[in-house]
Amino acid sequence: MAVRVANQPPPLRELDLRLLVEGVHREGAPWVEQELSALGSELAGEPREWGRLANEHPPVLRTHDRYGARVDEIEFHPAWDSLLRLGIRERLQMPGAYVARAAKFIAFAQVEQGVGCPLSMTHAAVPALRNEPELAAEWEPRFAAGALCGMAMTERQGGSDVRANETEARPCGDGEATLHGYKWFCSAPMSDVFLVLAQAPAGLSCYLIPRGEGFVIERLKDKLGNRSNASGEVRLEGAWGRLVGEEGRGVATIIEMVVHTRLDCVLGSTALQREAVAQATHHCAHRAAFGKLLTDQPLMQNVLADLCVESEAATVGALRLARAFDEGDELRRVATAVLKYWICKRTPAVVGEALECLGGNGFVEESGLPRLYRESPLNAIWEGSSNVQCLDVLRALRREPAAAEAFVAELESRDRAGVEQALAEADEQGARRLVETMAVALLATLLDRHGDPAVAEAFRAREGFGVFGTLPAGLPLAELVERHTPQVA
Ligand SMILES: Cc1cc2nc3c(=O)[nH]c(=O)nc-3n(C[C@H](O)[C@H](O)[C@H](O)COP(=O)(O)OP(=O)(O)OC[C@H]3O[C@@H](n4cnc5c(N)ncnc54)[C@H](O)[C@@H]3O)c2cc1C
Repeated sequence: MAVRVANQPPPLRELDLRLLVEGVHREGAPWVEQELSALGSELAGEPREWGRLANEHPPVLRTHDRYGARVDEIEFHPAWDSLLRLGIRERLQMPGAYVARAAKFIAFAQVEQGVGCPLSMTHAAVPALRNEPELAAEWEPRFAAGALCGMAMTERQGGSDVRANETEARPCGDGEATLHGYKWFCSAPMSDVFLVLAQAPAGLSCYLIPRGEGFVIERLKDKLGNRSNASGEVRLEGAWGRLVGEEGRGVATIIEMVVHTRLDCVLGSTALQREAVAQATHHCAHRAAFGKLLTDQPLMQNVLADLCVESEAATVGALRLARAFDEGDELRRVATAVLKYWICKRTPAVVGEALECLGGNGFVEESGLPRLYRESPLNAIWEGSSNVQCLDVLRALRREPAAAEAFVAELESRDRAGVEQALAEADEQGARRLVETMAVALLATLLDRHGDPAVAEAFRAREGFGVFGTLPAGLPLAELVERHTPQVA
């Protein structure tokens, strides 16, 4: 017997692209608006379901001997393949036109995050591969056609400290080598090639190795989130590779890849914030309690408005960062680490609060919020965890004064003094405080310059960054929430 139930918000499938459209116009890629809108409409359909299926049916490693040789195959749910095809069609695996790609990547990652990993690594590998024009000429067209590139740096004894890598590269002439060792994390191990760090006679070096003989996938990790994606442990038993960049300069070579994956961590976390906040504002616009819609309850308005401000700041910051990549701007150097630290770190708090806006339903899988919540800590961890980002900022300040100058120059004069003082006092123990100061100043400036005036005012009116829902009196909370409530039929 069908049960009629009142007061149930309709599911939200549509993507609210308004702020992304504003962003691409502002940051120099207005031409992508139509493509973005078309992608947004498409994502609201089957891909949403693919995202759910791909996460509920994680990949499985099947190993077997075939004609005496070991074969590792990873079996994915067909939904994964469909998502991957969609991302490749949109060229999310290729660099170039960063703002346009960023907007599409954010829209895509609102629906599914796991597929973003191989797309992101492939896109990021290209700038590193360009150190070897011959290799780049060979692989770029293949990537454009859908081949994928992974990366294997992390080992058991050290991930952040890659110089502790023990994997050995035994040169065999002409820049070729065989690799021997064990990589503790290697995501998307079904990829066609990998950039790998290994110790060569001249020191830590970067190699491009195709998946094949000597590349053994030991097992797949059982992860908190990102479950649609395969992350494996890999044993290298004489896998053949080609040197990328100079021998002994592996970190300098692979860092160009890492800078690009860090950009995508910012985009991915921005997407998580946007999706969670959209679901929360939508729910509260349709759910009543104590005789009024939740969105009209003054205290809930404060919570929602605070979340909306956070999500808008992330969106504005992420797209400005993407423009710095388009323009090869010096701002990129420090702003990438600052925004990776801040936006990724804020995301679990945003998603957790948004989840609570849905009440008990938010804790239940069907709402989609639990998947976002499980995903939310990841971008802060990989590609250099939070502390590593802060230490990277300190390193840039010491070694590249132009990078710090470019950062300060981006700020409005009212935001400079605080940052300059924090820079003057910077030390390792206080590095998180420094980077928080820098992030908040940058986002305040960008919201003033480009955001909605009420959002900019609310961002500045915050007293600290504790729990959400503590905005002071006198702000137009209803308008702030309205700006972020998806307008669905
Ligand atoms: C799902 C997933 C997929 C991954 N995929 C890949 C992949 O494809 N390829 C790959 O190479 N790696 C991958 N990684 C590994 C990831 O990049 C590392 O886990 C990460 O860099 C941290 O390294 P670690 O785990 O060895 O932690 P550690 O280096 O031991 O760090 C532990 C903690 O200490 C902090 N810390 C480290 N040094 C300092 C310091 N000097 N001062 C203060 N704090 C410090 C770190 O910030 C971190 O919080 C993946 C990880 C996950 C979770």
